[in-house]
Amino acid sequence: MTCLFCNEPRTAGEVLFEDARVLVVLHEDWAVRGHAMVVWKGHVENVASLTIDDALHFAAVHHRAERALLAVTRADRAILLKLGIATPHLHLHIYPVSAALDRAAVMEIIEARVRDAMDERGRQAFVNELRERLT
Ligand SMILES: [Zn+2]
Repeated sequence: MTCLFCNEPRTAGEVLFEDARVLVVLHEDWAVRGHAMVVWKGHVENVASLTIDDALHFAAVHHRAERALLAVTRADRAILLKLGIATPHLHLHIYPVSAALDRAAVMEIIEARVRDAMDERGRQAFVNELRERLT
């Protein structure tokens, strides 16, 4: 059995931060600039399954990642989504969006029916800026 996040986390997107327990990965779909995931390294379904110490660590990494994403994208609002259907790893999606977007526009992003238009050079600079803020 192969698990993407256990074996090849870098194929899920750009890894922005990593420690012994958590990964922060920029999602490869670029549905919105800065779509990222905070990923628990173990196979855990829910935050409720973590010890309180681990849950606090997950929350602290989320806090740091969300601050960095909002600062670099200059977005107003972090949309958060936790599903767990595609992978056995607890992970939280962060979508930095404009507060001007309505519910339908946000759902287009969550369903990945749209894609950010930044070119490859711009993306690399964006990734580097996020990495600097998260390390
Ligand atoms: Zn795994």
